[in-house]
Amino acid sequence: MILENLNSIAVKNPINGEILYNIGEISEKEAENIFEIARQMEVKIKALSLKERIAEIDKINKYVIDHQDFILDCIIAETGKSRTDGFAAEVFEVCDVIDVYKKKAPKLLKDKNIEVPIFLMGKKCQQWMEPLGTILVITPWNFPFYQVIVPSILAFLAGNAVVVKPSEVTPLQPLWNHFFEHSGFMKNAVQIIIGGKETGAKLIEQKPNKIHFTGSVRTGKKLMEICGPKLIPIDLELGGKDPAIVFDDINFDRTVNGIMWGAFTNAGQNCTGIERLYLHENIYDKFIKELVDKTTKLVTSSTSRNTKDPEDCDVGSITSPFQVAIIEDHIQDAIAKGAKVICGGIQEKGSHHIKPTILVDCNHHMKIASEETFGPTLAIMKFKTEEEAIKLANDSPYGLSASVWSKDMARAERVARKIVCGNVCINNHMLNEANPYLPFGGTKDSGIGRFKGDDGILTFCNLKSVLYDKQSSMVDPHWYPYKKSKYILLSNLMDSYFGKSKKWIKFAINGLKIDNVGKKEQIR
Ligand code: NAD
Repeated sequence: MILENLNSIAVKNPINGEILYNIGEISEKEAENIFEIARQMEVKIKALSLKERIAEIDKINKYVIDHQDFILDCIIAETGKSRTDGFAAEVFEVCDVIDVYKKKAPKLLKDKNIEVPIFLMGKKCQQWMEPLGTILVITPWNFPFYQVIVPSILAFLAGNAVVVKPSEVTPLQPLWNHFFEHSGFMKNAVQIIIGGKETGAKLIEQKPNKIHFTGSVRTGKKLMEICGPKLIPIDLELGGKDPAIVFDDINFDRTVNGIMWGAFTNAGQNCTGIERLYLHENIYDKFIKELVDKTTKLVTSSTSRNTKDPEDCDVGSITSPFQVAIIEDHIQDAIAKGAKVICGGIQEKGSHHIKPTILVDCNHHMKIASEETFGPTLAIMKFKTEEEAIKLANDSPYGLSASVWSKDMARAERVARKIVCGNVCINNHMLNEANPYLPFGGTKDSGIGRFKGDDGILTFCNLKSVLYDKQSSMVDPHWYPYKKSKYILLSNLMDSYFGKSKKWIKFAINGLKIDNVGKKEQIR
């Protein structure tokens, strides 16, 4: 279900500034109604077998395959990204996630037999993966299709009802209207509620059973403050300032191409884009020369043959005016503190087109090297030793992702292990994020919790711990009455099992005696 409301926020095409449509905030009453529907849906979704839920997810897969071009047109209209960026990171990846979790979900959601410790000998334990109830998903603007659909799919597969609040910058309202009309996906199982921050806040007031939040550190901290007193669990997928460390033993062409892509794909509007490049001093000049040569050949949104068709460009436009302002501010701050822009820069004042921008002579006092820029900028710094590179990479409040580039795999792995982050690539960048079998998430200010991998489903489950016992005539030895004789037997049992060497005979005798006590010494 899509709720359309007051007309107050303009959704614009970033390439030409055209107002596409207006959206607004929902009322408290509407938030209540949304959750009333969700609470009813919880029961219906929980009653579905996993096979039936997978059949619903298949409808999403079919919709994506049948409407790829329409989906991409909608995404491009609101984000200004290049068509290949949209295709690879949003459309293709959604199908990949569906394919992987159709295989994973039956294994992950199956009742799991769990071992028992010696204290519980003779009993049986299991873990049941049950739905939590209603999951509220709050998403940012940089991958507006993927970020809405993927957590929704995983939460639904786990048996939950889902309410999503997409970013007001890229709500994709026409796409979601079309999706619900044509996909045949279970009505109201996922409700996409278009609105701004107030809408998000009103939905939180309804006390969802869990929040899955992707967005900025600033909002993440605010939501934690709100969720704390209400004890609403929240996963936080926040920002990053990814470092790439390049040693001097590399395949030059491949590494230059990889760094260029890692920095400028999606016009740098990636939480895991390369924003800091640490180059070994032996290759510093040569690497920069080749990087600049290649980067200046990239076709950007406004220099492409047809500026209205982002399919024609490598680097799309920046999506929102506030992001353009941040990027400009970081470049100006760096220049004022001694950095040099050696290619790129702001294309035209007031436009959303920023050329891929490379800066040298940077240091960590500059915003461009310390705060999340979220644009097509690359701050380059030099290092001499492995230790120095690790120290520089870790000198950041963020810890989302990183990469290490070298032919010496032992060294690359050693360095990768020392970088404090949630995700790391060797001789590539951010591609681990494209593997749904791997968990994804941050350390430090980059977030709390893991998404995808096994956690992708389990994070939306109540992991219920179960113990089965027999209806026998015995009571457990540690039940009432508490008696010194029982206490001594239990203590002997512990010594014989956990003591320096296992004393099996003593253990067996004590076990039998305890069984006897269990039979005889009951409160009758
Ligand atoms: P944002 O924090 O401004 O907004 C994210 C969402 O939160 C939006 O839907 C917004 O409406 C909502 N929101 C804001 N204030 C709210 C409130 N008080 N109550 C409820 N909802 C509220 O982030 P953004 O600018 O949209 O996205 C960019 C950020 O997202 C970057 O920092 C980027 O690194 C991060 N990001 C992280 C990941 C990841 O997986 N770690 C992925 C993509 C983007």
